[in-house]
Amino acid sequence: MGKPTGFKEIERAGVPYLDPRQRLENFDEFAVDVPESHLIAQGARCMDCGVPFCQSDTGCPIDNLIPEWNDLVYRGRWREALDRLHHTNNFPEFTGRVCPAPCEGACVLGIIEPAVTIKNIECAIVDRGFAEGWIRPQPPSHRTEKRVSIIGSGPAGLTAAQQLRRAGHEVTVYEREDRIGGLLMYGIPNMKLDKRFVDRRVAQMREEGVQFVTGAHVGTTVDVREIEENSDALLLACGATVPRDLDIEGRELEGIHFAMDFLTRNTKSLLDSNLADGAAISAKDRRVIVIGGGDTGTDCIGTSLRHGCASLVNFELMDRPPDSRADNNPWPEWPKIFRVDYGHAEADARFGGDPRTFAILSKRFLSNSSGHVRGIETVRISWTRNEDGRMRMTEIPGTEEIFEADLVLLALGFTRPEQPIADALDLERDPRLNYKADYGRFATSREGIFAAGDCRRGQSLVVWAIAEGRGAARAIDEYLMGESALPAPS
Ligand SMILES: Cc1cc2nc3c(=O)[nH]c(=O)nc-3n(C[C@H](O)[C@H](O)[C@H](O)COP(=O)(O)OP(=O)(O)OC[C@H]3O[C@@H](n4cnc5c(N)ncnc54)[C@H](O)[C@@H]3O)c2cc1C
Ligand code: SF4
Repeated sequence: MGKPTGFKEIERAGVPYLDPRQRLENFDEFAVDVPESHLIAQGARCMDCGVPFCQSDTGCPIDNLIPEWNDLVYRGRWREALDRLHHTNNFPEFTGRVCPAPCEGACVLGIIEPAVTIKNIECAIVDRGFAEGWIRPQPPSHRTEKRVSIIGSGPAGLTAAQQLRRAGHEVTVYEREDRIGGLLMYGIPNMKLDKRFVDRRVAQMREEGVQFVTGAHVGTTVDVREIEENSDALLLACGATVPRDLDIEGRELEGIHFAMDFLTRNTKSLLDSNLADGAAISAKDRRVIVIGGGDTGTDCIGTSLRHGCASLVNFELMDRPPDSRADNNPWPEWPKIFRVDYGHAEADARFGGDPRTFAILSKRFLSNSSGHVRGIETVRISWTRNEDGRMRMTEIPGTEEIFEADLVLLALGFTRPEQPIADALDLERDPRLNYKADYGRFATSREGIFAAGDCRRGQSLVVWAIAEGRGAARAIDEYLMGESALPAPS
């Protein structure tokens, strides 16, 4: 254990962010570097609980050995902390930046005090590891001559690829985009996760011997059956990429875009030309409405503000969450509370107020004379519970309103993976049209074909994609070799 009385003496202090006005000037990461003493003090707050809820159950999905590395950081033993961290997590620099940190929601200290800053410590350990040159390629010590193909280069595909390569297999990852990384590359914006960090891991994996094929749209430009025939095992890690639409009057108007089109084109243009090629959907001088919250909605807010939008409103269908845990949401569950994410703070700094409007329903999009969106007609709603416990929405008469807009971004989540690959391979689907495969086995209805990540479990988190990638790698290794030394998922 770090310092036995640390949690009583030291207050939680997260890594600070740059001032919102300053960070809006560019797409650079906004977390500020802190001195080692800050991290050592925060590590000292960990109580090394007998039952560390942070690392299991409702806490960390990959069972990160959190109390161990908190203690090692407190003692300044960074290299050992890095080894313990990589023991369970292939890519802590991604989770250390973008994970919502269910570990902190489950931290025992959180019952009486603010939780340990687990995510900041994780990020500091891996950043230090790269800075010191401790993170080197680990090519396999033996070769099995088995060929594994992976479709999709998001965190699930990348994790599985690294694990399987280190187990000695020939691994090829097919990606339809021009860059590797899935939503780590084209999805999560640069200010939250600098794309150099994605490229750095991909470079490490190339040196380990993983083959990457970009611009390969499997099922369209590349035949999936051909890939299957040339592989000893196939892993589908294609993500849940079909966006939920808003099928109301005026949806066809110009100026209404899916969030993913907006975010992807922005990052691509940023990386290709620092936004000089004009390929991004620009929010500059536009009145922007983002429909839908969550990470995607926040990322649309942050991106629109960096473009220099004229105004910004964010619609949320649900009620405003409470400021602290409700009675039916006790520790160690994920706290469903009102949070101010980076984009909300930035909108407040730019326009003087939180951009969110809760419990509001979009009724129809309004057109100007040239077929471009000019606003949204809305109505306020109230939520009640039915006798069967389900939430029911009722429109409140007399609350109709018009919000003006010339750019509308739909951030309503994702419904399912695309179906052509599963159709071509004749795979069973679950009722939500995800590729059917049990967690732990990851085997689909066809022998030798596995599925992991959002295409199997539905839209989720980076940390879950890493967990699934690791689990699927073990299942594939066992399938190919009859046994596996790779770690099993919990
Ligand atoms: C805007 C946004 C922000 C998010 N922010 C966060 C966050 O802050 N924290 C967090 O934990 N999670 C976040 N998430 C969720 C997280 O990114 C996903 O849960 C995670 O990336 C899923 O990983 P995956 O590997 O299953 O799929 P993906 O990351 O979706 O990768 C799938 C890849 O497969 C490729 N592909 C699909 N079909 C084909 C094909 N036919 N041929 C070739 N390639 C194909 C796609 O191009 C893509 O690159 C966010 C999601 C979005 C959309
Ligand atoms: S639950 Fe919190 S205090 Fe306990 S071991 Fe985990 S991080 Fe430390």
